[in-house]
Amino acid sequence: MKVFAEHHDMFRATVRAFVEREVMPHVEAWEAAGRIPKTIWPRMGELGFLGVEYDEKYGGAGADLFTTAVLHEECARSRSGSFAMAVGVHTDMASPHLYWTGREALKEKYLPAICRGEKLCAVAVTEPGGGSDVAAISTRATRDGTHYVLNGSKMFITNGALADLYFVAARVEAREATRRHQGISMFLVERETPGFSVSRTLEKTGMLASDTAELTFQDARVPAENLLGREGVGFYEVMRVFQRERLVAGLHAVAMSERALEDTIAYVRERHAFGGPLSEKQIVRHKLADLATLIEAGRRLTYAACQHYADGGEAVREVSMVKLFTAEMANRVAYDCVQLHGGYGYMREYAIERFARDVRLFTIGGGTSEIMKEIIAKELHL
Ligand SMILES: Cc1cc2nc3c(=O)[nH]c(=O)nc-3n(C[C@H](O)[C@H](O)[C@H](O)COP(=O)(O)OP(=O)(O)OC[C@H]3O[C@@H](n4cnc5c(N)ncnc54)[C@H](O)[C@@H]3O)c2cc1C
Repeated sequence: MKVFAEHHDMFRATVRAFVEREVMPHVEAWEAAGRIPKTIWPRMGELGFLGVEYDEKYGGAGADLFTTAVLHEECARSRSGSFAMAVGVHTDMASPHLYWTGREALKEKYLPAICRGEKLCAVAVTEPGGGSDVAAISTRATRDGTHYVLNGSKMFITNGALADLYFVAARVEAREATRRHQGISMFLVERETPGFSVSRTLEKTGMLASDTAELTFQDARVPAENLLGREGVGFYEVMRVFQRERLVAGLHAVAMSERALEDTIAYVRERHAFGGPLSEKQIVRHKLADLATLIEAGRRLTYAACQHYADGGEAVREVSMVKLFTAEMANRVAYDCVQLHGGYGYMREYAIERFARDVRLFTIGGGTSEIMKEIIAKELHL
């Protein structure tokens, strides 16, 4: 299956060189610090990585979805799930809300700074009371003259502690509706907005370099022009951006798993037991063959869904299958690769240990495996 053209390969070489030189040497330090330094963003902006598909008039590159795929695959090969996720949230999970539904003036105001890496983005949908049931959002937005006043809180927000711009889902009171999802709208909230605060940074199992935060809105006054799209249609916008988020999650899961497999192959070649390298034991060879096959299946499923999505198809079924399959796949790869590393697989000094903690998120974040199954089952018209 030929997916990438020559220009994609050239872009891949550029991203790979950046990741190898400017990301990988710092991964452990960023994990220990619990954050990625903000200096990385202007650097990525300078290299043209942060607005790959956005129109050139906003500072983007006007490229295609497969260029975006290259970016995320190479970021995921860094052996830092945190770095890949931080980039993915900025470029494909948060800022598309502005690019797709923001008014022209708003796009002109913020997109160039987003593409230059001067303004870091986060997306805030999940609340302390629940994430899967998006229609149950309880953060309120009340119109007051030229502003909306936001009250409520958001939970588990990636880039949440360090972001400059937050894309926030809130329920507009005036549009309280018979159907729960009808009242939801998306807002662009600046970090400096009075009444907005980062209430705490959360301690996690994995993705340690990614700052994950709880956010509070207490009479936060947001200019009415920062409403994204029409009032009350935010639920559909969240679902639309989720499609892209889930494709990116699939790209991450496949590329991270492939890197883990490479690391494990290198390990079993070096490690000796019972008179020879582990790589010569049939059970080890078969396990690695199974994992390679699984990853290849995940890759093809992901590329096929990318193609369908790029062609303008709804791709809900395909994208949900990608999210489900690759998240479960990455966890199977993690379990087996840790096992093949023996005791060293359980040690912090080995990248495989971080991989196993990082990918645990994949069956939870961006829509759980159970929710993916619900969506796929709906598509089966049972
Ligand atoms: C590290 C991290 C980063 C995140 N980043 C962001 C972010 O940037 N922005 C953001 O908005 N959110 C973010 N999230 C939130 C994430 O998307 C949610 O955690 C996820 O959607 C699940 O929601 P929940 O945690 O409230 O679980 P719940 O919705 O409470 O679900 C709990 C369990 O019940 C299951 N369940 C729920 N409903 C059903 C059902 N109908 N049928 C069967 N099973 C069901 C779920 O699958 C899950 O296993 C992040 C989460 C984490 C952990």
